Amino acid sequence: MSVSLIYDSAYLKHETGVHPENARRLEAILAAIEKDESLAKRLVRVAPSPAHNEDIARCHREELIYHLESLCERGETYVDEDTRVSPYSFEVARLAAGAATNAVDLVMKEEGERAFCVIRPPGHHATITNAMGFCLFNNAAIGARYAQAKYGVERVLIVDWDVHHGNGTQEIFWNDPTVFYFSTHQYPYYPGTGSAGERGAGKGEGTTLNIPLSMGTLARDHRQAFTDALHVIERHFPPDLVIVSAGFDSRRGDPLGGLMLEDADFSEMTKEVVRLAEKHASGRVIGLLEGGYGLDLLGGSVRSHISALL
Ligand SMILES: [Zn+2]
Repeated sequence: MSVSLIYDSAYLKHETGVHPENARRLEAILAAIEKDESLAKRLVRVAPSPAHNEDIARCHREELIYHLESLCERGETYVDEDTRVSPYSFEVARLAAGAATNAVDLVMKEEGERAFCVIRPPGHHATITNAMGFCLFNNAAIGARYAQAKYGVERVLIVDWDVHHGNGTQEIFWNDPTVFYFSTHQYPYYPGTGSAGERGAGKGEGTTLNIPLSMGTLARDHRQAFTDALHVIERHFPPDLVIVSAGFDSRRGDPLGGLMLEDADFSEMTKEVVRLAEKHASGRVIGLLEGGYGLDLLGGSVRSHISALL
């Protein structure tokens, strides 16, 4: 068993100016990993390759792909008021989505393999038609659909513990009974979706589960709700692969969040996910970086997550 760390310095070339989602986030994560020698030497470094248009188009309208490409080519700097791009952003976004598909290739190769992708831009707000909320392409969704298309994986569970609700991921799989979307998040909060009543529709009814949490929810209550939900999910939807939309803006002190998790909670939550995956999914877990904006906090949280993946 090993954990692959997927990263490329090209991720630093998505320039956002003065913005919470900036390249220093990844530098802080890498520095924290390198500082922990025993952890660093157990990770297998893997360079990503860009996602193909057909991989992206399983989750997004082709118009979105061309729209983002032309914005970047024209040197535009805004997709919307929150979401910025620079000339390299389109290629960087393809490389972030590519990390998700590369991670699927790695974990499908051998039982018990796991991967963590240190990527940006994040993905879970990107809807079928729109980039938004710092996100260009929905990396987790692209990984899930790729696993199904390429490897015939039947059931994918996406676990999203970012402080924000992953409206994009929810939308993409709203009618889809083969991908379960589970989110804990601050509520009410950006982007406004994620009430407990949102449960999917049609054949996908019941394969969306939202646990909205009020600002300041105690970490132990938050973690209990997370664990209880995972137990319910595994009874009804034993997955073949688990993808974590690992946003660390749910940590106490994050400048964009109001939840109270500590590094130890990310470790425990990861262990719960690994336990479920060991039981049902041959141990296959992929972590994808989403949010997390405290430059002095992010490294420690990611280290806790990766250590628990090992
Ligand atoms: Zn977030």
